[in-house]
Amino acid sequence: MDNKISLTQLKELVTEAHEQFKGNTDGANADYIPYLANINKDLFAISICLMDGEVINIGDTNYAFGIESVSKVHTAILALRQYGADKLLELIGADATGLPFNSIMAILLESDHPSTPLVNSGAISACSMIMPIGDSDAKWKAIVDNIAELCGSETPLIGELYKSESATNFNNKSIAWLLKNYNRIYDDPDLALDLYTRQCSLGVTSEQLAITAATIANDGYNPVSKKQVFKASLSPKITSLISTVGFYEHSGDWLYSSGIPAKSGVGGGVLGVLPGQFGIAAFAPPLDGAGNSVKAQLAIKYIMNKLNLNVFGGNRIIIED
Ligand code: GLU
Repeated sequence: MDNKISLTQLKELVTEAHEQFKGNTDGANADYIPYLANINKDLFAISICLMDGEVINIGDTNYAFGIESVSKVHTAILALRQYGADKLLELIGADATGLPFNSIMAILLESDHPSTPLVNSGAISACSMIMPIGDSDAKWKAIVDNIAELCGSETPLIGELYKSESATNFNNKSIAWLLKNYNRIYDDPDLALDLYTRQCSLGVTSEQLAITAATIANDGYNPVSKKQVFKASLSPKITSLISTVGFYEHSGDWLYSSGIPAKSGVGGGVLGVLPGQFGIAAFAPPLDGAGNSVKAQLAIKYIMNKLNLNVFGGNRIIIED
């Protein structure tokens, strides 16, 4: 069923979601990365990017926060661009782990592959795959150029976050070397881990994440920069990865209750993809126990519910003005 709504009404709805949840004080900033523990916990932003490139921004949408695990989506897209869908499935996989994002147990249980590029192990593996193998500078350039293409603009490194994360990423070091043990790392493990840590430390705004989400929703065509970033056939592949594991061990609960495939990061960002309709992003630092932003989840669920939209349902919104 078509659900007609004007752009003004949609803006009002996003404003209403922001008003509704801005006072919520549940959750806590990630504290295992010292930089993140000190971010202002009251920051709150919601952005929607429509298929025609129109962007709705409410709240602190100019604030650049640590992209963290949302960057796993971008680099999975780069690996798909470089290798294609079949090779990504073979080298990394597309299974949900049902376990926390940094689980070592998940690698031991699925020792034949890291399982998905959207958990730490698969994301480090994806960084190792990025071509040209062995050339850290050129790989980094490929990673940031791809992120900029998806976001429609550049995402500068937050040096302090990179330093903070590099000094404390002992668990991820273990993951990189365990993957090496299973021949599931395709370049030097330390080099791959450094690229992963650096990409997690890029600063991004909710608007940039909404544009990325809209590019995925729009078959790889960035509606703001008006560029085809990746092949349309890769869109359902990345959306399926986001659906199965975007909220880690809460992915099923999230999809069931929100109706939108979405990926979170411990910096407080969430990106949601509604194929053919829009990309949405929200940002607020306090997280629930699984590492997902409390207010971002509430806001996105509220908007999806009010619009009566669900990726598994037939309703669509038509924007009229
Ligand atoms: N850089 C973080 C880590 O590897 C990302 C985790 C996340 O955002 O879920 O621990």
